[in-house]
Amino acid sequence: IMSMEDYDYLFKIVLIGNAGVGKTCLVRRFTQGLFPPGQGATIGVDFMIKTVEIKGEKVKIWDTAGQERFRSITQSYYRSANALILTYDITCEDSFRCLPEWLREIEQYANTTVVTILVGNKIDLSEKREVLRQRAEDFAESQSMLYLETSAKESDNVEKLFLDLACELIREA
Ligand code: GDP
Ligand code: MG
Repeated sequence: IMSMEDYDYLFKIVLIGNAGVGKTCLVRRFTQGLFPPGQGATIGVDFMIKTVEIKGEKVKIWDTAGQERFRSITQSYYRSANALILTYDITCEDSFRCLPEWLREIEQYANTTVVTILVGNKIDLSEKREVLRQRAEDFAESQSMLYLETSAKESDNVEKLFLDLACELIREA
């Protein structure tokens, strides 16, 4: 059982990005160590907020309940977020092309001090890749975002994603 007194910080990490890019699977992989079988977006509805301990700090991870249309995610979702995981799917050009719209939402709703990491998920499907790594890296750099490619399915870089973010937050706190 966690009590607030045992922690120096409480961080809020929020996942955003188009429906279907794998946000819920990334959270599941990290917090439960599993990749849910089956297809479809319904797997996203069974939780909103997970509390975990990373690097000895209490971290709340916010996942959407499937309301990823622009402006249907409320302001409260972004409010007081310390970090954002902006996710797209490397096999889905459309999910990459929507990133500027997500950035506009971030600009509108998030703290100016928020740490944002761009994540290209589903690298296990590299034969179906539609977004070149270099292109995504260039875009991330132009927006002062970190960049990482992951596979929730194969557990590639998922641990690293959350640990790197926590380290960055502890460093900036
Ligand atoms: P969300 O809408 O962003 O939360 O996306 P979900 O986590 O619900 O995942 C959407 C679909 O993509 C599901 O069918 C998942 O099984 C699949 N998926 C998620 N992550 C990966 C991945 O890393 N690799 C592969 N191959 N499929 C994935
Ligand atoms: Mg989801």
